[in-house]
This record gives sequence, structure tokens and C-alpha cells, in this order.
Amino acid sequence: MTRIVYADHAATTPLSTAAREAMEPFFSQRFGNPSSLYAFGQEAKTDLDEARALIAACLNAQPGEIYFTSGGTEGDNWALKGVAELRGKKGKHIITSAIEHHAILHTAQYLEKQGFEVTYLPVDALGRVDPEQVRAAIRPDTILISIMAANNEIGTIEPIAAIGAIAREHGVLFHVDAVQAVGHIPVDVQAWNCDLMSFSAHKFYGPGGVGGFYMRKGVRLPPLILGGGQERGLRSGTENVAGAVGMAAALRESVEEMKTESRRLSALRDRILDELSKLPYSKVTGDRENRLPGTASLIFEGVEGEALLLHLDSRGIRGSSGSACSSASLDPSHVLLAIGLPHEVAHGSLRLSLGRETTDEDVDYILKEVPEVVNYLRAMSPVWDEVQQRPVWYEK
Ligand code: PLP
Repeated sequence: MTRIVYADHAATTPLSTAAREAMEPFFSQRFGNPSSLYAFGQEAKTDLDEARALIAACLNAQPGEIYFTSGGTEGDNWALKGVAELRGKKGKHIITSAIEHHAILHTAQYLEKQGFEVTYLPVDALGRVDPEQVRAAIRPDTILISIMAANNEIGTIEPIAAIGAIAREHGVLFHVDAVQAVGHIPVDVQAWNCDLMSFSAHKFYGPGGVGGFYMRKGVRLPPLILGGGQERGLRSGTENVAGAVGMAAALRESVEEMKTESRRLSALRDRILDELSKLPYSKVTGDRENRLPGTASLIFEGVEGEALLLHLDSRGIRGSSGSACSSASLDPSHVLLAIGLPHEVAHGSLRLSLGRETTDEDVDYILKEVPEVVNYLRAMSPVWDEVQQRPVWYEK
């Protein structure tokens, strides 16, 4: 029987047992609406507030600074559109990076059509934003800086605390898309100096379609969703109590085991990066030092990422080429282009993101199968001969 290796945890993670068990009562006995005034409803409100307090504690925030949302995309939209509405009269300039998730980039493009001006900062070859470039980009009319904590395609961790200090110094609001970071690396909204932060439960073994938004006390963005006035009037809609409770349980567990699990995952990840980058015309993408523990990403010249994925899938390995949302399109990823890869090279990308259930044996299997598939696809490729004629254009 083919071994199944799920190596796409950056796309989504399986629900943890702790999260599932925490949620189960809310699908049956404890179905009350937190807005109902009778005791049964108020119990649900208490459960929601306990989840909020637990999440706040994990992020070094106050409970009143946490809002429940439908996920990372909603938080990213809320941050950009909210600040545009709140501060749009003061200024119309926003700073972000070229490697953000589409939830940020498409929202920034939408705001450009509304008359805002957006600076998309470049990154270096490892995918790092330079804090000094952030400083240099700030203008008197800059109202928001939005930088991701860690990149979803190449795993590079950004210097968020340094950028946050610069934003604070200049009195500019700072939003962090922490969707890939929360539950995986230490996140501290105070140390990061951020004013706004988005995160999403399904990236850390919580339920899908549930997320959180941190809004620093003293900042009050206008609501993105209007209605019954839930979440202190800022995010209407009957609350997803089960989802919030599941997210809190998942986050607590992830934070509790972060130290040991990130050490274990980093070792597995490094085995993949070390071994697979030994293949000719192959290279690690992203930063080897400041990197998400579970994210291995590489490029293989002369290989089509989509073909690689399909062949790996037929051998039981579930990976990704670029991000989950752009992997349905044939355009090379904006992240790989931003780190300077030529178009034809960027097509040969593979991301293997490991998680809690990944074992040494799974990595052994990956290290056996990926080279076989890469060699097979190269042997069939019309461009492989041509690739080998060219000098290697990068350093390993
Ligand atoms: N931001 C980043 C960095 C992501 O990786 C993702 C999801 O892949 C999102 C935002 C969107 O999050 P969600 O799927 O919860 O809407």
C-alpha cells in the first residue's frame, strides 16, 4: 500500500484532538446564542470570553483586544480597509511588501482603485524585508504599514519587532499578517509593537473558517461587517462559539508544545533541505536561518511544479507548489519572482510543509521519492538539455 504523507500544513492542518473535544459540546448540548439574556445564552457568552482570554494570553494581549473573525483573509481585509477608512482623511499612503498573501495584495490593489497609494517594498534573495527600507518609505501621509510575520511559500520569518519599532517611532499604524506564525513561533504583540494582527485557526490545528484579529487598545477601526453589534459593535454576526473555543484549545496546545515541536520539525525540515538541494540545478528558497520550523521549499530547474505535485500525489505525497490559493493558476508565484527567480525557474517550485504527525519515516519516504520524480520529469522534459547547457546562475 502506498504510504500517505501529508506535507501541506502551511495550507491547512488537521483538527487536533484537544480542539475537537473542546468543540464537541457546542454542537449538541451547549448551543446557546451568546446574545440571549437567559442563563443558557449567557453560558455561551462566558465560554466565548474564556476562549478570548486564553487566546489573548497566548499572544501577550489583553482579552478586550481580541476579536473573532472568519479567518486570516477577513483580518487582512479589516486591517487595510479599516485603516483606510479611519485615517484616509489624514493620508492615503500604505506600505506593504511584494511577498504578502493575496488577502493583503488584492485588498491593497482595491484601495489603489479608491485613490490610495501603495508602496510594495521589495525583498532580498532570501525573502527578507529590510526595516531600513520601511523607514525610508515612510512619508508624512503614510497611514499604515502591513508586513507579514512569516511567508507562506518560502517560510522566511520577517524582522517584525524591528519594523514595529520604526512604525511606532513614526506614529504609523502597524498591521502584521501572522497567519503562518501564530502557533508556530513565539508571537508577542507587545514585543512586536504591532497595532493590528490577523491569524487563522486552521493553520495551527484549529477549525477552518475561524480566525482572530488583534486590535491594540486605543485603536478603533470601523467595522468591516455591520449588523447586530456583536464583538463590541465591531464584528457583527452571531458568534461561532464552537469555532472560538476550538481555536483557543488548539492555540494553547500549540504554544505549550512549541519549543519541543519546533525543534523536532526544524530537524526534519533541514534533512529535506540539505538532501534535496544536493540534486543538480536545485536550490533552497527562502532564508535558512530565520525560517518557519515546518516549511521546506525548493526549486528544481527543468521541472514543472504542477507535474511534480501530481506525480508526488500518485506516490502518496501531498505537497504544494507556491501557495494553496495560487497553485490553481499557471502564473509563477509572485513570491518566487520577488526573490529574483527567473520565470522559467520559478515554475519548478516545491513546498513541503511538515506538521505534528510527520515522522522520520515520512521524511525518509520524501527523500526517496522526490529525487526519483525529479529525475523522471527531467528525463522527459524538452528543456532539460538546454538547462544543462546553461551555467548555473545562482549560488547554492
Ligand atoms: N495570510 C497568509 C500568510 C496565509 O498563509 C493565508 C492562508 O494561506 C491567509 C493569509 C489567509 O488565511 P485564511 O485562509 O484563514 O483566510
